[in-house]
Amino acid sequence: MKKNKPLFERVVTITGKSLSNPGNYLVRIGSPVCCLIEAAGGHPNDTGKVISGGPMMGKALHDTNIPVVKGMSGIILFPVSESFRPETEPCIKCAKCVTACPMNLEPQLLAAASMKAMYERTESEGITDCMECGSCSYVCPANRPLLDYIRLGKLTVLKMARERNLKQQ
Ligand code: SF4
Ligand code: SF4
Repeated sequence: MKKNKPLFERVVTITGKSLSNPGNYLVRIGSPVCCLIEAAGGHPNDTGKVISGGPMMGKALHDTNIPVVKGMSGIILFPVSESFRPETEPCIKCAKCVTACPMNLEPQLLAAASMKAMYERTESEGITDCMECGSCSYVCPANRPLLDYIRLGKLTVLKMARERNLKQQ
């Protein structure tokens, strides 16, 4: 607004251990992510995963032909050796995920309820308050995919809420 121009470009950080020219690039909105990777030195041969966002909250891209959008702050290229998740083990009820949650949620409970499609329970436990920071998954010693199930539950609960609102109109 200050410069009286629309949002047609933004700074995107692109990084990765094997990338030859990592850095902050001023990118036109709509540019393909693959072109951004080319500008940063091209796909390293050992690329195993491309993440949009930060290392904890980011989402893996299945295709780098997608466009840069206004909410895209960073791209991270992980080598193959760091692209696999450790084996998931049973929850040991250590509550580390609860302690780590900045929103005072119970990530283990939310993920378990979401996994069992108990979406009403996840809603009553405040799943929509989750800000998807990923701290719960990061600290879990059992490598539980907590954020994945919480995201699934949150999306489903938001969809349920929209449908409820439509019925009430
Ligand atoms: S991802 Fe959600 S549930 Fe997990 S720690 Fe962050 S706010 Fe809490
Ligand atoms: S941190 Fe992991 S193992 Fe510990 S209670 Fe949470 S889900 Fe279970």
